Amino acid sequence: MRKPFIVGNWKMHKFLSDAVETAVRLRKLCSGVTHCDIAIAPVFVHLKVVGDRLEGSNIFLAAQNCSTEMKHAAHTGEVAASMLKDVGVSYVIIGHSERRQYYAETDEMINKKVKAALYSGLNVILCVGETLSERDDGQLFDVVRRQLKHGLEGLSRNDIAKVSIAYEPVWAIGTGRTATPEQAQQMHEFIRGYLGETHGEDVAERVRILYGGSVKPENVSGLLSQRDIDGALVGGASLDADTFFGIISYEI
Ligand code: PEP
Repeated sequence: MRKPFIVGNWKMHKFLSDAVETAVRLRKLCSGVTHCDIAIAPVFVHLKVVGDRLEGSNIFLAAQNCSTEMKHAAHTGEVAASMLKDVGVSYVIIGHSERRQYYAETDEMINKKVKAALYSGLNVILCVGETLSERDDGQLFDVVRRQLKHGLEGLSRNDIAKVSIAYEPVWAIGTGRTATPEQAQQMHEFIRGYLGETHGEDVAERVRILYGGSVKPENVSGLLSQRDIDGALVGGASLDADTFFGIISYEI
């Protein structure tokens, strides 16, 4: 049985005081939650302070990115996965569409980041998803298959156990346009099928596949009631603790 997983991606939002306040409020709201795992991903410079406020709680600390490089060396502006681990991070989001689109991250770079994160003892949330034109051209499954193939290249069955996949159709991120539960389920089933072919059915059954793209308290239950949707990666609606808690408190 896969435990649902709800992740808040705060992107490049919040000053430190607001990040701390939101984390502390969320901690209070979520204190009795056992039905799902929860994580929040603040910006790098807030990780340590927010992490300290979450210590001993049921909320995991996540980062939004990490370096392709494992070895501490001359890479100005980069943060190694091992440094994230060192300040208490448990999960790292890799291959978010905003990084692919605005920072030219390639599948090859994403694969290096995935390996660096796993090597450093972090769990990975690997994002995949098609653009609107790719969907309209009927290429959605080819695009996601390519992203999975390259992103997970060289990973063992044990490695895959530490990876969650986030299916985030680019046209649904921050647009208010959510995939229907049926559209999302169709892709999630495809992803699980792909993992079954490449890493075995037992592994595929264990991997959590999250949906991301304008998830809100009003639409989360419909999405999570689908067989292969194991959680949500939430952007905008995770910035306010009470709204995010509304998502965490979904009913099926
Ligand atoms: C995201 O950033 O991963 C995301 C899904 O954003 P939003 O929920 O705002 O669409």
